Amino acid sequence: MTIFTRIPKVDKILAWHGVRVLLARHPRPIVLAAIRATLDGLRAAARAGSLREEELEEALVVGCVEGEVARATALSLRRVVNGTGVVIHTNLGRSPLAERVRTQLEEIAFGYSNLEFDLEKGERGSRYSHVERLLCELTGAEAALVVNNNAAAVLLALSALAAGKEAIVSRGELVEIGGSFRIPDVMGQSGAILREVGTTNRTHPRDYRQALTPATGLLLKVHSSNFAVVGFTAEVGAADLVAIGREAGIPVMADTGSGCLLDLSRFGIRGEPTVQEFVAAGVDVVTFSGDKLLGGPQAGIIVGRQEFIGLLKKHPLLRALRIDKLTLAALEVTLRLYRDELQALTEIPTLRMLTASAPDLKARARSLVRRLRRTVPSTVTFALADGISQVGGGAYPLLELPTTLVAVDVEGLAPQEMEMRLRGGEVPVVGRINKGRFFLDVRTLLEVDIPLLAAALQTLAG
Ligand SMILES: *Cc1c(COP(=O)(O)O)cnc(C)c1O
Repeated sequence: MTIFTRIPKVDKILAWHGVRVLLARHPRPIVLAAIRATLDGLRAAARAGSLREEELEEALVVGCVEGEVARATALSLRRVVNGTGVVIHTNLGRSPLAERVRTQLEEIAFGYSNLEFDLEKGERGSRYSHVERLLCELTGAEAALVVNNNAAAVLLALSALAAGKEAIVSRGELVEIGGSFRIPDVMGQSGAILREVGTTNRTHPRDYRQALTPATGLLLKVHSSNFAVVGFTAEVGAADLVAIGREAGIPVMADTGSGCLLDLSRFGIRGEPTVQEFVAAGVDVVTFSGDKLLGGPQAGIIVGRQEFIGLLKKHPLLRALRIDKLTLAALEVTLRLYRDELQALTEIPTLRMLTASAPDLKARARSLVRRLRRTVPSTVTFALADGISQVGGGAYPLLELPTTLVAVDVEGLAPQEMEMRLRGGEVPVVGRINKGRFFLDVRTLLEVDIPLLAAALQTLAG
């Protein structure tokens, strides 16, 4: 009798207790497919001559079927533990929301709401009204509008203000950010005609003035985002650009990218003007992301002069770029936290992580290691090391935030193997490998991540 004939049949497996438990919880076709996949694996091993008798025991086969069912039913979009130290990590979902957002998100998601209903007048209202006054209060702008993301904000503003006309941009600001957002391409889509001025490293007010023609519709300033021009450089500031725009009677727009509402220079994060500064300088339309430095949900925020925001509100493209009600719910709560600077800094995770001090991070790393040592087998060892975290999200590309890293070593496991297994775990843990060692940066670990991390390391060592 060959080992082939001892591989159990589907009907027999279906009668096993462990499989009956699976059938009670999952649709029959999913369990059947899992059994077939398990049997395929066993037959392939038998053909290769590597199948051992013990692998046909009920408990082991059921374990395989359970694994297949788990794989087939796992959600694709899942929570991840970010140990990379990149605070605004675009691939990991950018900003985790403030805890205070939770109740409002549930309230709005699971019921009806006054999304587009004016409760006072009992008639149709505007979804944009829920955050407009708040945005004006926080930024000093006359009017505001929110859309799906900042790319949409830029596209809408260019379409409404400069379609069929020339938009003047400095060569040094024709950026590409991740995910194929390139200013020249977005401009092409909007129907605005790109008029480049200056050079890569230096652009002067006279460059803009000389490029003005009757065809000019807009002066555009773009945040250089994920790169920096250093050395012999010159750029035209917002105030100077506004002066040129006013003389010519042409609106000025700024895509500020990360869109910071707080001056973070006392935390060593300096060099980027706040949205309020752009507004105060007289920029007519300012756009920024909701999920970068702001620390809210994915959104594109547009603030500025009534005259121009009004044109955006009337543009047909707005309907295609409109913000979703859950985003709006999260955005309103996040923005409200900015009414009190201290509250924003302590409650918004992105700001809390960015402004965490080096001694605080060291203390947290020590406490983390103490907690992990209590739950994880002694084959897993930890050590602290000094390191650097990054802001991410195309903000402050040169800024190095001093942090404390936790180096993790597992007996008999290469760092690359450890990295792969942690990434493939039930709750994936993403860290970084540096000089052949696996590290986790405590800056980007949330409090709720600690038990998840402990469980992941336990599984790894087990
Ligand atoms: C990030 C960024 C964008 C795109 O913003 P999203 O919210 O990701 O659409 C556009 N412009 C600049 C300068 C940026 O930094």
